[in-house]
Amino acid sequence: MHGLMQSWPLTVDKILDRAKTWSASREVVTRSLEGPIVRSTYADIHTRAKKFSAALLAMGIKPGDRVATLAWNTGRHLEVWYGVMGIGAVCHTVNPRLFADQICYIINHAQDRVVIADATFAPFLMQHKDKLPSVERFVILADEDRAGDHPGMIAYETLIAQHAPDAQWGAFDENTAAGLCYTSGTTGDPKGVLYSHRSNVLHTYMTLQADGFGLTQSDTVLPVVPMYHANAWGIAFSAPAVGAKLVMPGAKMDGASIHELLETEGVTFSAAVPTVWQGLLQHLRATKSPLTSLKRVVIGGAACPPALIRAFHDEFGVEVMHAWGMTEMSPTGVFCSMPLELKDASFEDQLPIRAKQGRPLYGVDITLEDDEGQPLPHDGVTFGHLLVRGPSVVEGYYRQAGKVVDERGFFDTGDIATIDHNGMVQITDRAKDVIKSGGEWISSVELENHGVGHAAAEIVAVIGVAHPTWDERPLMIVKLRPGESATREDFLAHMQDKVAKWWLPNDVVFVDDIPLGATGKIDKKALRDQFKDYRFPDCR
Ligand code: ADP
Repeated sequence: MHGLMQSWPLTVDKILDRAKTWSASREVVTRSLEGPIVRSTYADIHTRAKKFSAALLAMGIKPGDRVATLAWNTGRHLEVWYGVMGIGAVCHTVNPRLFADQICYIINHAQDRVVIADATFAPFLMQHKDKLPSVERFVILADEDRAGDHPGMIAYETLIAQHAPDAQWGAFDENTAAGLCYTSGTTGDPKGVLYSHRSNVLHTYMTLQADGFGLTQSDTVLPVVPMYHANAWGIAFSAPAVGAKLVMPGAKMDGASIHELLETEGVTFSAAVPTVWQGLLQHLRATKSPLTSLKRVVIGGAACPPALIRAFHDEFGVEVMHAWGMTEMSPTGVFCSMPLELKDASFEDQLPIRAKQGRPLYGVDITLEDDEGQPLPHDGVTFGHLLVRGPSVVEGYYRQAGKVVDERGFFDTGDIATIDHNGMVQITDRAKDVIKSGGEWISSVELENHGVGHAAAEIVAVIGVAHPTWDERPLMIVKLRPGESATREDFLAHMQDKVAKWWLPNDVVFVDDIPLGATGKIDKKALRDQFKDYRFPDCR
């Protein structure tokens, strides 16, 4: 028997409709690329997004067509998102930090018909436009004056000025594709994750739980995490859904610029990868500045060092919430809320738990398996492959045959983790980075966390290198801080009482630079290439 309730399609256009209707004057503030702060409201964003939809329809864009963006977090980018998704077309957010060849590859793979870009990326597009045969139009997110510097591109402001805000939104199936985001492709070619309206709406409900982002209408939200990095972790949906004020940082993500926005706009909630918060912390300490309105920050995308969580708590009274996810999960997976037994514990007692990635939000199912696919205990000690399933988790990649889930619907995240009896997850490694020594696993992340705690270290990476007796052993690669010196023995002595003896790296080498990938993470693939002929001292 079917229930007798309405089947109200879960489409994202209703999010902005609601913001326009019930939070019309709530502000969306942007640091524009041109420099000045631009103030608009949800009502303005809605009107302009509708005009942009009308412009797309006039260009002949049909449901299912892909429209790409290469853009920073701005009010205009928000308008474009809703303008594209509202008419059933697919908003393809391109990470502009990828290599030129990768950007061309994914625009061609997605067969984008229109590309919309900030002025920052206009020269790149004009230089490569002959390699992008599917693209019929290039739109620059600027007015006519600025567009004049980039022949071949149409000005966004000119385009929307020609249309009335009367395009129809929604009225299609909730499983219709809404967004497309390619993984950064650290292994093989980038893969396209095709979000649906339904998956985005359910992800929005999920992250809004009080044990998740817990946003309310009285929050002021600054997403530093870019809209092209896994949907700004869903904030471009969740903030308007509750009518929170939105502050968009544009192209400037350095400590001083972020601090200025946090203070002048009264930001209460923000989200970014650890390096951004490290930059802010350095700025705050150097300038002896306070944080007067910020209450909570979400840190994810890479492991958050406990020292950062402590610094924000002790020096600024700001709560850091660690989170883990991936593009394939829309992206949120687990979120660090305190288990009941530690809710009232001291910060000191909570810190080791806060440094873990967190517990699954309602809407995500997780489990742990060994190499043979056998279930592993959730004892907080045993580590294995982390598998996930849920309505905002990928089932297959765009234009790639077959499903990428097992018969129970679980997707292998490629991460190695422990899970405890509360569902608390700790990520110990990427599966391809874990070091397999004599049949046992060594966590490269844990060795790196300890290594970077050495006062002379700036960046530390650990990779597995072939060893005739043990299969693989850890090699520690260190970039020292400018002006510092240290030896292999110094690092080994520093590590000695921090990990089991058999975890200690067989060697420590020093380099001038450590390669980073497009999302600012250490590029271990490049490091493995660099050290492919390396031999440990005991094997030479
Ligand atoms: P990419 O692999 O393209 O960088 P994502 O940005 O989706 O794509 O990265 C997802 C991966 O980032 C996860 O599978 C995990 O390895 C890592 N990651 C994300 N958040 C955390 C975290 N809080 N701690 C440790 N690793 C994390």
